[in-house]
Amino acid sequence: MMHQINVGEDLRDRNREIAAENREMLRSHGVFSLNIMSAPGAGKTSLLVKSIPMLTDKYRIAVIEGDLQTTRDAERVGALGIKVHQIQTGGVCHLDASMIHSALHQFDLDSIDLLLIENVGNLVCPAEFDLGVDARVMLLSITEGDDKPKKYPLMFSESRLLILNKIDLLEMVDFDLGKARQEAADINPAIDIIELSCRTGNGIEAWTDWIENLISESRNG
Ligand code: MG
Repeated sequence: MMHQINVGEDLRDRNREIAAENREMLRSHGVFSLNIMSAPGAGKTSLLVKSIPMLTDKYRIAVIEGDLQTTRDAERVGALGIKVHQIQTGGVCHLDASMIHSALHQFDLDSIDLLLIENVGNLVCPAEFDLGVDARVMLLSITEGDDKPKKYPLMFSESRLLILNKIDLLEMVDFDLGKARQEAADINPAIDIIELSCRTGNGIEAWTDWIENLISESRNG
């Protein structure tokens, strides 16, 4: 008889425990947090760079930047004058709760209202690891194709918001907005969807409004 140890499950159980600790830590300091996920190049960093200046008069913001290599994104976000902590995963294709746990100890959490986490660019693994945040957000750029929801269902089912980015390119690519919206809703009927262009700025206000609504909900709840 073959005896099998499922290492993957143990790893995820341990991750869940640390995520729960992170959640408790963030809540007790009144920090609202988002985990932003997408494939590489979908526009996570651009979204942060475009929207953070619209939020800094209301919230004290910190960012955790996850990257396989390089500090480029952290430098782009750090140029906004906010606190940025870089996690270089050295080849690991996702952030996990213990990486976030260490990063949280680098911040003075009492001086932060909103923590934005940019995950490693990947449509699969980041969805499997709860970081202990309030909500997960995913970006899908329309250049990636409208067939992605059904191909990467976990990412869509775990996310509270789907941002369809690069909407300014709609006339140049064969992307069926209705199909993508329908497939995302089939997987996750509760998912919110915002169409946006980081390049033109269209939809950025819908995104910052969405964040503000969630923050006031969490403060009143
Ligand atoms: Mg980036």
